[in-house]
Amino acid sequence: MNEVLPISPPRAWAEIDLAAMKRNLAVARKASGCALMAVVKAGAYGHGLEDVAKALSTEDIVFFGVANVGEARRIREAGVDTRIYLLGATWSEERPEIVARDWTPCISSLTEAAQFDALAAAAGKVLKVHLAVDTGMGRGGFVADHLPEVMRELAALPNLEIEGLGSHLPSADEDEEFTRRQFDHYRAVISELGGPDTFKWRHLSNSAGLLGYDGTVCNLARPGLMLYGVSPLPGHQEKLSTVMSLKSRVTLVRTLPAGHGVSYGRQFVTTRPTKVATVGVGYGDGYPRHISGKGGEVWIRGRRFPILGRVTMDQTMVDVTDADDDVREGDEVEMFGPNLPVAEVAEKAGVIVWEVFTGITPRVKRCYKE
Ligand SMILES: *Cc1c(COP(=O)(O)O)cnc(C)c1O
Repeated sequence: MNEVLPISPPRAWAEIDLAAMKRNLAVARKASGCALMAVVKAGAYGHGLEDVAKALSTEDIVFFGVANVGEARRIREAGVDTRIYLLGATWSEERPEIVARDWTPCISSLTEAAQFDALAAAAGKVLKVHLAVDTGMGRGGFVADHLPEVMRELAALPNLEIEGLGSHLPSADEDEEFTRRQFDHYRAVISELGGPDTFKWRHLSNSAGLLGYDGTVCNLARPGLMLYGVSPLPGHQEKLSTVMSLKSRVTLVRTLPAGHGVSYGRQFVTTRPTKVATVGVGYGDGYPRHISGKGGEVWIRGRRFPILGRVTMDQTMVDVTDADDDVREGDEVEMFGPNLPVAEVAEKAGVIVWEVFTGITPRVKRCYKE
């Protein structure tokens, strides 16, 4: 028997608009006036590493910024040959592969530098590396005061080419005063080390940095979040286009009597006969459970409806009593997207947008639109 089994559509899926992502990239390019490193760590912020890398590989990007060698490898295996930059410190067992594949690390210590130099020497090559300087993030990089001495020591490592100087902003979306001083500090470090020509690539800005500050000493910017359609500085949001829409469907509609609890813990109890739509998405898909009881809404048939009680692992209940147009089984539901900003969902849930995006689980099918 060659029976063809029917295949049902997914319960929850994420629509990803790659054309919108490219428009956001153009906004980053214009606002920064710099060459770009597209930050695609954590599976392109949950948008799908391979598909995003392929889409952006034709967009004149100098580097893809990734978190680790596993992500770097996935980009190569997808057939994309754009240069790869490892955003954080690498540890010793990652370094042989980095050297073998000519990925670009940023270096925070002389120990790392010495190992990279030895590996490059053994491979008979010169490895391009960037130095990281800590101007306030406290996560990696050389302490700025040590850099002149460090540069002298690095000059004795012939198999390393110091191609760039990077630093990172801890609070560009929270503390303007501090961030301005950080830009000044970075400029001062560059002059102390011999001026802009000392480094082919000079980079400090994430999305908030490039949108909100004058980064003239830099010639490379590292946007992440804004490529995915969200500005960390609310004043710039209207320049960006929504990339991801998290969607699901109504699986059931019922009317519950007054005095009936809804969901775990019975934190919500109906006060009137209530038409409840059950939607096929929950925190097991990455929709944030902490939005429960915090005024979360969803979008069905062109308007918003409130979430009732706690978001469960696979299902979320919504009050559709006041729908003008009957909500029915099978109706499409937008959990966030163009009609319901993901920033609003994150804020109500008490998390950051970066967390919402990277928390969307593998169960959610990513559907791409060019
Ligand atoms: C994640 C990251 C970025 C991108 O930050 P966004 O705020 O998402 O734009 C830039 N630089 C470094 C070093 C990072 O780790």
